[in-house]
This record gives sequence, C-alpha cells and structure tokens, in this order.
Amino acid sequence: MFDTLSDRLTSVLKNLRGKGRLSEADIDATAREIRVALLEADVALPVVRSFISGVKERAKGAEVSQALNPAQQVIKIVNEELVGILGGEKRDLALAKNPPTVILLAGLQGSGKTTLAGKLAKWLSGQGHTPLLVACDLQRPNAVTQLQVVGERAGVSVFAPEPGNGVGDPVDVARRGVAEAQRAQHDTVIVDTAGRLGVDEEMMRQASDIRDAVDPHETLFVVDAMIGQDAVSTAEAFRDGVGFTGVVLTKLDGDARGGAALSVRQVTGQPIMFASNGEKIEDFDVFHPDRMASRILGMGDVLTLIEQAEQAFDADRAEQAAEKLGTGELTLEDFLEQMQAVRRMGPLQNLVGMLPGGNQMKDQLANFDESYLDRVQAIIRGMTPEERANPKIINASRRQRIANGSGVRVSDINDLVNRFFEARKMMQQMAGQFGGGGGGSRKN
Ligand code: GDP
Repeated sequence: MFDTLSDRLTSVLKNLRGKGRLSEADIDATAREIRVALLEADVALPVVRSFISGVKERAKGAEVSQALNPAQQVIKIVNEELVGILGGEKRDLALAKNPPTVILLAGLQGSGKTTLAGKLAKWLSGQGHTPLLVACDLQRPNAVTQLQVVGERAGVSVFAPEPGNGVGDPVDVARRGVAEAQRAQHDTVIVDTAGRLGVDEEMMRQASDIRDAVDPHETLFVVDAMIGQDAVSTAEAFRDGVGFTGVVLTKLDGDARGGAALSVRQVTGQPIMFASNGEKIEDFDVFHPDRMASRILGMGDVLTLIEQAEQAFDADRAEQAAEKLGTGELTLEDFLEQMQAVRRMGPLQNLVGMLPGGNQMKDQLANFDESYLDRVQAIIRGMTPEERANPKIINASRRQRIANGSGVRVSDINDLVNRFFEARKMMQQMAGQFGGGGGGSRKN
C-alpha cells in the first residue's frame, strides 16, 4: 500500500536536492508534481487542494533556516502536512470510567470487521484487558461461527446467540452481550455488527439501534483501504447514518493506491486509530500518523521497527549475545535464538520495508527464499546442545547424522558451519578494531 505514492513523492522531493535556493517557480513546480502524485493515488480532491495550498504557503513563507537547506525544508513541510492530513497525534481508545468499555464496530460487509474484532481483542488482552466479543452480525451466513473462530484464536470469550432460535435480534444480542460482560467482569466489549455490500438504509438503522441499546464509548468505522474513492463516500454515509468516533483502515497490505484511505480523516474529522495489514491475527497496528507519513515519504518507519524488535527480543538475552559477539564466544544456540527472534517480527521483506531506503532492498529480497532460514533452523535443531555450543566437534559422521535428522544434504551443513565460523571471526575482528568486547582469545 502507498508504494506508488511513496515512489512518486520521493522522486519529486529528490529533484530538489542540491538546489541552493528555491525560487517561487521551483516551489510551484514541485507543488504541481505533488498534486499529480496525490491525485493518482486516489486522494480526494478537496484534501489534495488543502494539502497543496498548505505546502505552498509554508514553503514560500519559510524562514531561511540555518539547519536545513531549502530542499530539506520542503521535505519537512510536506512531511508535516502529511502528518496533518493523517490526523496529527495518535489518539488512544477512550476507556470507560466504569467498565466495561463498549466498542462498536461498523462498516460494509467484507471490510474486515470480524477479522478486526479478533485482532483488537488480542491486542486489548496484550494490554492487560479482558475483552468479550459479541456476535451481532446475524445477517451474513457463518459470521457468528467466524467470530467464534477468531475469538478462539485471540484467546478471548465470545458471546453469541444460541443456535436454532431463528435469525435472532441483533439489538437484543448486543444488550445481553454487554450484560454478560458486566456479570463475568470483562472490562471491554467488542460488538461486531452486520454490514451490507453497499450503503443501505436497513444496515444503518440496525447499527444505530444497536448503538442506542449499548451506548458505546467508541464506535469504530472499519474501512477497506482497497475500495478506492468509494472509501470517502462510504465514510460520509456512516458518519451521517450511525456516527463514529474513530476509523480503522484494513487491508493496508494490498497493493492498491490507498489515497482514499488518506482522505478519510480529513473528510470525516475522525481520527484513524488502528490499521489492519494482513489476514493473520497479529497483522494489526496502532495507527501513528507521523510514522505513516514518514513511511510514505520513504523515510522508513524506524520507530515501529524498534517497537516490534522490543517485543520480539528478550533484551537481556540479546545483550548477552551482543557481548559474546565481541569475545568470539557466540554459539550456534545463540545464533538460533537470535534468528528466531528476528523471524518473530515478521517476513524479512516487511522488516526491510520499514527501514529508510528499504523499499529497494525489499524488491531485491522479493526473490529471497525464506525456506533457506527454515533449513538453517532445522539444521541447528538437529544438533546436540554440545554441538551447538562448540561447533568445532562436528566431524564427518556427526554431519551425516545431522543431515539425516534434519532432511538436508551434508553440504548444507558444511555451508552453515563454515559461514558461522567466518561470521564469528569477522565479528571478533570488528570488535577488536572498535575496541569492544573483551580479549577474544578463543580460536575456532
Ligand atoms: P466483515 O464482513 O466486515 O466481517 O469482513 P471479514 O472480517 O469477514 O473480512 C473479509 C475478508 O477480508 C476476509 O477474507 C478476511 O480474511 C479479509 N481481511 C480482513 N482484514 C484483512 C487485512 O487487513 N488484509 C487482508 N489482506 N485481508 C483482510
């Protein structure tokens, strides 16, 4: 998502580099190109207009800065304006003083509400909450079962109407769901509602009736970022029909232009609070306007990367491993552990995409076969603890045994062990050069 926009904006801004001074004509030309890039990405016209006039005005009036050259100044302004259309500060969920906090999900059918319900529940659990999912989508066949499945995946309880009682009344289910949350002391309730394929009065009425029955603290409008310009009109219809307090963008992993999603905040005045970027339960993020803006501008998203790293790594163990790097005491066991931690952060391609300038690297990695890493893990797992701690002892017969056990060729094991020794030696030398990490007396 946003790749095309990102490429276009990066190249427009790149053209400014090296210019000592920007004339008014330079600024106008840049603004024109940015305008085309935004329109091509499907950003709604009124949003483009205010964006461009903001950029132009600020770029022309910009004070001469000691710290930034003119090009950097324009990049800074474009970045700030982009953060602005994305909503400025991130907004946290409004939690009820007297729990449970009720969160109502509304949106078209297929927008990803049910999937999101599970993601949000899992995320809330991770934050120490005790959510209950309530199945009020009684329209779509299987929606209730689907919510039960995601609930199980998220490890949270689901309140659903008893089967066999006909279609049932979603308003009644919602009311009973909230009562059940109070009874069982869940501190948050997520109410999944029925959508329709298009904007529809009956759907709006039902969602409003549920809203009136449960008086939610947050109503989140869930919108598929891939529906293009329709995102804006759908958002307006939900704003007028049901009203909402926040937006969730889904399917940000898709390759559509995504600009419509960028318009929703400005058009509806409500903040984007979460982003869903895949079908798996963990493909979910709190939406940070500033991080998204810098990602679109190709500056990478180092902050998100750091946060993911913090979650995936055990800081103490990582530090121990880092210390061992310098002394040449790193073992294959440490290596396996660090590799697993990196892989818990997601596919490598996604990781490098978050680094500054990572988009090109991402293309190169497109051909990288992640099954190579599976093979490496299988090999190390096939070794005894002694072999992992001291790979020197892995002689020919041990190699044969490990190869048989992990289903690879002996040459794969030779490769891995040789590379490991080389890497260890290199790191040891580097540590010596930069004065880090002890004596490194051990030889391989
Ligand atoms: P609902 O009708 O609004 O409840 O939508 P669902 O939750 O059933 O989602 C519709 C389809 O979109 C399902 O196939 C989901 O797996 C898929 N989906 C939901 N969120 C995402 C996402 O962020 N990325 C992708 N690629 N697919 C998603």
